Amino acid sequence: MNKLEITNINNLLEAPKKIVIVSHKNPDGDAIGSSLGLYHYLLKGGHDVSVLMPNDYPSFLKWIPGNDIILRHDSQKTECDELINNADIIFTLDFNAFHRAGNMETALTQSKAKKIMIDHHQAPDDYADYTFSDTNMSSTCEMVYHFISMLNDTNLLDETIATCLYVGIMTDTGSFRFSSTSSKTHQIVAQLIEKGAKNDEIHNDVYDTNSFERLQLLGCALNNLKVIPESRAAYITLSQEELNKFNYKKGDTEGVVNYGLSLENVVLAAIFIEDKNEGIIKISLRSKGNFSVNEMSRLHFDGGGHTNAAGGRSSLSLNDTVEKFISILSTYKKALNNE
Ligand code: 5GP
Ligand code: MN
Repeated sequence: MNKLEITNINNLLEAPKKIVIVSHKNPDGDAIGSSLGLYHYLLKGGHDVSVLMPNDYPSFLKWIPGNDIILRHDSQKTECDELINNADIIFTLDFNAFHRAGNMETALTQSKAKKIMIDHHQAPDDYADYTFSDTNMSSTCEMVYHFISMLNDTNLLDETIATCLYVGIMTDTGSFRFSSTSSKTHQIVAQLIEKGAKNDEIHNDVYDTNSFERLQLLGCALNNLKVIPESRAAYITLSQEELNKFNYKKGDTEGVVNYGLSLENVVLAAIFIEDKNEGIIKISLRSKGNFSVNEMSRLHFDGGGHTNAAGGRSSLSLNDTVEKFISILSTYKKALNNE
C-alpha cells in the first residue's frame, strides 16, 4: 500500500461512515479475529460498523470480544444484504475473491461501496479500490495491526483489539511455529501482550475446550491415517457416518490434517471429509517446504490458499476422491522427493 493510498484511506475514515466488514465462508480464527479487531478499532473512529460472516463457525471462537454483534448471512440474509447495499465502505478480510464469501457474493458484486481488501492469500482478484495484499504475512490479523500502524493509530490499541488480533496470529501460525512466523510477527505479538492480550487464556479458550466426542473423533481420524512413503505423503479420511457417530460439530476436525504432517519424512498431508449435506468432500492440504498445495488445490480440487496450507472440494465419492489424490501424487513424486 503506497503513501497516497494511505492518505486516501485516512481521508475516507476522517468522518463517520457506514462500514461493513466481511470475511470468508467457514470462518477460522484469523477471519473472526481480524474482523473483530478491525471492528473495535473502527468503532473508536465513531463509525457505524457491522461484521458479517457467510455461515457458522466453531464454538471455540465464539468467546472473542464482539462475537455477539456478528451477523450471519445464512440465517440473517435480508439484514446482511441491506447492510452491504447501504455501506459506504466494505472491508473484505482474509479472502481475495468474492466467491469465497459464499452467498454474500451477489450483494458484494452489486455493491457501490468503496472496497478495502486486507488479505494474505495468493492471487488476489481485482475488485477492491484499495488492495492491501501480502502473501508473506503470517495472518490477516498481523496485517490489521500493520493497517492500524500505517494509519498512525497504534496508540488506539487496547486489550480488546489486542485479544482479537492475537487469536488470528496464533491460529494461522499454528501457535507461532509455521515458516510464515517472522521476527516481526513476534514483535507485534509482544506488543499485543503489552496491550493486555492474555496469551495463556487465549490459548486455553481456543485449544483446551475440547468435548470428549471431539477427541474420540480425532482417535477415529488417526485410525484412518494412511501413509504413501514413496510420495512422502499421508492422508486421513472421515466419512459422514463416522462424523455422525461422534456427534460432529463445526470445528471438530480443525487441525486434524496436521497430524499427517507430523510423521517423520512426510511433506504432504491431506484430509478428506465427507459432507453429505453439501454433497461434497471437503479437502484440506498441508505441506512443508516449497511444495505448493495452493497450486495442487487450484489445479485439481477447485480450491486454493497458501503454499503450505490450502483447501478445496471434490464432488466425487469419498473413495473416488482418495483415488484421484493418489493418482495425482504420482505426477508430483519427483517434487515431493526433492523437498
Ligand atoms: P482449510 O484447509 O483450513 O480449510 O484452509 C486452508 C487455507 O486455505 C486457509 O487459509 C483458507 O482460507 C484457504 N482455503 C480453503 N479453502 C479454499 C478455497 O476453496 N479457495 C481458496 N482460494 N482458498 C481456500
Ligand atoms: Mn488467514
